[in-house]
Amino acid sequence: MEKKELYDGFLVLEKHAQQMLKEIAAMKDDMAETLERNAELEIENKHLRQHLAELEKDDNKTSDGGVELSKSKQNLESLYNEGFHVCPMFYGQRRVNDEPCAFCLDIIYGEN
Ligand SMILES: [Zn+2]
Repeated sequence: MEKKELYDGFLVLEKHAQQMLKEIAAMKDDMAETLERNAELEIENKHLRQHLAELEKDDNKTSDGGVELSKSKQNLESLYNEGFHVCPMFYGQRRVNDEPCAFCLDIIYGEN
């Protein structure tokens, strides 16, 4: 009787250990995903900063000679064409699959 109880005890323990392993594996996957996403965002952020710095440099160099869009709107258009949102709602985020954004277009080409 005692041996049977011991054996059952091990079965329960084994079950718990397996469950725990499963949870650890899931947590590990989550963490890997988060780290990956974080690295992606860091790269994107760096890219955006570099791009902004370039735009600001260009802005200081060139004078506006009767172009259709104002310089600041050209900058926004350029960012938008690179695949980033320039609308207040999603500013700086990547446009998924380059999908058009009505808010961005309104900011760049709208009357105001
Ligand atoms: Zn947008």
